[in-house]
Amino acid sequence: MNPLKNVSAPVGRILEKALAGDDISPAEAVTLFETHGADFLALIAAADALRQEQVGDVITYVQVRNINFTNVCYTGCKFCAFARYDDEPEAYTFTIEEVVQQAVEARELGCTEVCIQGGLNPKLGGDIYLKIVRAIHAAVPDMHIHAFSPFEIQYASRILRRPAADILRELKDAGLGSIPGTAAEILDTDVRRMLTKNKLSAEAWEDIIKAAHRAGIPSTATIMYGHVDSPRHWAHHLDTIRRIQRETGGFTEFVPLGFIHQNTQLYAEGLARTGPTGLESIKMHAVSRVMLGRDIRNVQVSWVKMGAGLAQMCLNAGANDFGGTLIEERISRMAGATNGQYMPPEEFERLILDMGRIPAERNTLYNLKRVPVV
Ligand code: SF4
Repeated sequence: MNPLKNVSAPVGRILEKALAGDDISPAEAVTLFETHGADFLALIAAADALRQEQVGDVITYVQVRNINFTNVCYTGCKFCAFARYDDEPEAYTFTIEEVVQQAVEARELGCTEVCIQGGLNPKLGGDIYLKIVRAIHAAVPDMHIHAFSPFEIQYASRILRRPAADILRELKDAGLGSIPGTAAEILDTDVRRMLTKNKLSAEAWEDIIKAAHRAGIPSTATIMYGHVDSPRHWAHHLDTIRRIQRETGGFTEFVPLGFIHQNTQLYAEGLARTGPTGLESIKMHAVSRVMLGRDIRNVQVSWVKMGAGLAQMCLNAGANDFGGTLIEERISRMAGATNGQYMPPEEFERLILDMGRIPAERNTLYNLKRVPVV
């Protein structure tokens, strides 16, 4: 079947460029984000064809435990329903021993990765990150430690009055394997001003991500979409991620994260819509494949944000990774997500086989645990 049959001339030209391996521009990405009907279906078919060509039919997943070690934070991001002040009843902070215990349990449960992020708790000090990495690495040396967003690295750098690059090198020497490319939200100054006054700037996010990559620490890349943003912001965000990747090669995957609105101040104040629609989510994954796939092979779905059904649709529209088992995910759940906190490997395998694709467990850096028989 010709995926471009019935497509309009402008969208057909853009998709032909992408299928021929040429770059599409941010303006062309906006056109793709605005497709409907036959144009939308052609976008999906082109993204799926590119996925097939670039990474084949395997859909990967990773066994990971999330450890959100504290929810105490005074940054005041309006899209966040996770943070609490220290004196609020739901505030919590795990001790280092508790964090290590959770990593040990994660290993016993079959996890190959712990993903560690938290609020910026002023009582913990800037060296908390190093203490956590050292303690986990000592207790479970072969566990991949995927930890600390660029904002947490910037925080440590400010408190300790040391360059972020030094902090990153020290964390790597202590056993840090990679960092999450969270806190990116939308890399646009005007949008960030509406979302949060105190979080790091788009420029600082980029500087710290590049410093991590230069130090040999890979990271993921993310976008949080569906709040005050528009296709123009999404297209420029993807363009920025592509530019950084061409400079450093340090991104392992791109992860679109739909905004969960329910319990957020941003939504309560009437500033945001109710998260992305299903179609917007499908388009986001499809355009990510079309625009980034040659530079970042892996496009991940967030089942915890969008549910397994929509995640399956996105995996038919350019995505190739189902994400993690996510034992004890707290951040989306506090914001109102109801898709559960844990998906066992058997459920990933069932959903992937249901799509006629090949399931494979991977580690954080996309090495397959078992190579599937194709
Ligand atoms: S998103 Fe992170 S930095 Fe912002 S308030 Fe929530 S926990 Fe704090």
